[in-house]
Amino acid sequence: MSSAIKLHTSHVLPREGFVHGFPERTGGVSTGLRSSLNLGKRWGDDEANVEENRRRLAEYAGYAPEQLQIMRHVHGTAVWKVGEPLPEPAEFDGLVTDKVGPVLGAFAADCIPLLFAEPEARVIGSAHAGWRGTVNGVAANVVKRMVELGARADRIRVALGPSIGPECFEVGPEVVEQFRAAFGDVPGMVVRGPNKDHIDLRVATRTVLERAGVTPEHIDTSPPCTKCEPDRFFSYRRDGQEGGVHMGFIAMR
Ligand SMILES: [Zn+2]
Repeated sequence: MSSAIKLHTSHVLPREGFVHGFPERTGGVSTGLRSSLNLGKRWGDDEANVEENRRRLAEYAGYAPEQLQIMRHVHGTAVWKVGEPLPEPAEFDGLVTDKVGPVLGAFAADCIPLLFAEPEARVIGSAHAGWRGTVNGVAANVVKRMVELGARADRIRVALGPSIGPECFEVGPEVVEQFRAAFGDVPGMVVRGPNKDHIDLRVATRTVLERAGVTPEHIDTSPPCTKCEPDRFFSYRRDGQEGGVHMGFIAMR
C-alpha cells in the first residue's frame, strides 16, 4: 500500500481561489483496519495518531491545523455558520462560511461527504449525509444557508465524495419506504439487488440538490465506492467501528 497522501478531487469545484479534497486512506500513522490516514476520533483510535494524521493532511493541503472546523455529526440536518454561537451539545451535519480562513470538514465512512462552493459570491459549505440525512435534506439546508450568505443556488457547485455505491448499499424495506415517501418514484433511486432492494444515495442526493435549485451540471455524483476499494477507502459496512473515517475538506484562499 502506498504511504503517500492522495486526494480525490472533483471537476465541478472551482480551483482558482479555492482548495478542496477527499483524502484516501494512505499517508497516515494509524494501524490495523484504521491504517493509515484515519481522521476521526469517535470510534476509539489513539488520539495522538488522529492529530498527527490531521496535521499531515493540513501540511499537504496547505492550511494550518487550527483552521479546520469540524463538528460532531448526528445524521441530522442542522447547519452551522462558522462563528455563530454554539448550542450545547454542538452537533451539526453541515457547515457554511463566506470567510477566508475556515477549512470546513465533513466526516464519512460510506456516508456521503459533500463539498459546496459558489465561485462568484465566494461562499462554501460541507455536509455529512448518510441515508437519514439524505432523506431529511441536509444538503438542501446547506444550499439554503449559503443563499442567506449571498450565494445563488443555480451557481452552487456540489461534489459528492467517496461513499457507498448503489451496488453495495442493501437496505431493508422500511428504509426504501422512507426514500419513496420523501422523493416519490425517482428513476434509479431504488435498485433491485440479489437479496433485498438497494438505494442509490447519489440519485437521491441529486434529487435533493436539484429540488433546492442547484443546476444539474453543477453536481458531481460519480465518486468511487468506499466498500469496493479497500486499498483506497475506509468503509463502515466493510469494517465496522474498528475501521477508520475519512474527511472531505474545502476552504477559500
Ligand atoms: Zn461498492
